[in-house]
Amino acid sequence: MEWEVVIGLETHVQLSTKSKIFSGASASFGAEPNTHACPIDLALPGCLPVLNKSAVEKAIRFGLAIDAKVANRSVFDRKHYFYPDLPKAYQISQFELPVVIGGRVSFQVENPDGSTYQKTINLTRAHLEEDAGKSVHGIVHGKTGIDLNRAGTPLLEIVTEPELRSSAEAVAYAKALHELVMWIGVSDGDMQKGNFRCDANVSVRPKGQKEFGTRCEIKNLNSFKFLQAAIDYEVRRQIGLISEGGKVVQATRLYDPDNDETREIRTKEDSMDYRYFPDPDLLPLEISDEWIEEVRASMPELPEKTLARLINEYGISEADALQLISHRPLTEYFEKAAAKLKDKKIAANWVKGEVMAQLNAAELSIEESPVSAEQLGDILVRYSDGTINQKGARTVFSAIWEKKGDKVDELIETLGLKQISDTGAIEAAIDAVLAANPKMVEEFKSGKEKAFNALVGQTMRATKGKANPAQVNEILRAKLAQ
Ligand code: ADP
Ligand code: MG
Repeated sequence: MEWEVVIGLETHVQLSTKSKIFSGASASFGAEPNTHACPIDLALPGCLPVLNKSAVEKAIRFGLAIDAKVANRSVFDRKHYFYPDLPKAYQISQFELPVVIGGRVSFQVENPDGSTYQKTINLTRAHLEEDAGKSVHGIVHGKTGIDLNRAGTPLLEIVTEPELRSSAEAVAYAKALHELVMWIGVSDGDMQKGNFRCDANVSVRPKGQKEFGTRCEIKNLNSFKFLQAAIDYEVRRQIGLISEGGKVVQATRLYDPDNDETREIRTKEDSMDYRYFPDPDLLPLEISDEWIEEVRASMPELPEKTLARLINEYGISEADALQLISHRPLTEYFEKAAAKLKDKKIAANWVKGEVMAQLNAAELSIEESPVSAEQLGDILVRYSDGTINQKGARTVFSAIWEKKGDKVDELIETLGLKQISDTGAIEAAIDAVLAANPKMVEEFKSGKEKAFNALVGQTMRATKGKANPAQVNEILRAKLAQ
């Protein structure tokens, strides 16, 4: 039997605000336990939450970025459950009236054969909520500690419609979403710190069947690798179970990377009743159209638009453009380097080629590049105007990378990289090479094109790599034709 996989993702994105969503305590990561927890985070009696405007602004930004409806009125609810890291015994979240409704995300998915297709999925909603604290094991021997530094950090929970059809699509969506929240500046997206984590709802059904199968929800997947592996395991498990005459039981499961399997933590029967109700300590959240427009005016160009501009205005191929917009700092680097150039493709090739290769080899991010975007731009200006050739450009790039200097024109001078475009000098060099290599000339004349390249190589060597290669080619051809 052929099976169809159905997946919906719920993603928790930590919003990069200075303070928490309902208190003034710092939302920064990594401090000593409980030093970033104020009376509100500790749920001391008599404390009142006050909503963080910046968290709301970030939710609006997200809503606009995915072309969703930003609700003029939404409501905060209490979601009750008991857990040691949740001192109030309820989490403030949004239930019936979320701040962001609908919207869509587009992304590229790779087939197993390497070809790609574009997919767009609809989002159900995105709502604001607070994070819980953390249970800490291993600090006090034999006891569990509670660290409330994370309690109350702002989260945006983003929920998709069940429109994903494979683990590859789920991962491609999650990656696109991850890049988007960083691109629009609402989250640092740091997955190692748990600032972007997914719950995957997975079901299977025989191909052609209309109704969805029973789903399981795999919680807290904080890497794309685990997201993929957990879904793949779950799909195999469910198909195996149904094929043997069994039934999938709706349940919450956890993925165990050590054994590459998912394990049930609770079934729907004993799932919690959260007793949601509107939090009486908080007024409904009212967002005016003026505020929404203000936020819209402050939005950066969105990735899809940047992509179209790179392709249509700069003439960059789709594959290259996709690579250049895969990460906003990379896009910015490219745009800065290309700013002074007429032919932006030169910068695109350099950023994708030399720059990325060197960064990868040195395990550096684009933000840490020893050659700034402006410096690369200056190098490429000199390459474009014929002052230096490709080899010279590489030499200047390396020199700046190795901190041998930081001014492009000075380096071209001191390293003697000015290209020889003087026809007389090039002719003289070629004449010498031809006289010294009669055998190669013979070979070329008997039809061996390889010999031509060898003669070009000799000439370039004779000029210490500084001859204009195009001119060398042209003059050499003319002389050999005589
Ligand atoms: P809950 O609030 O109980 O988690 P929701 O109806 O809000 O349930 O759905 C949560 C997520 O599960 C959504 O992303 C949704 O698309 C997805 N989902 C719902 N039904 C299915 C199904 N049968 N198979 C896979 N995913 C599903
Ligand atoms: Mg859920």
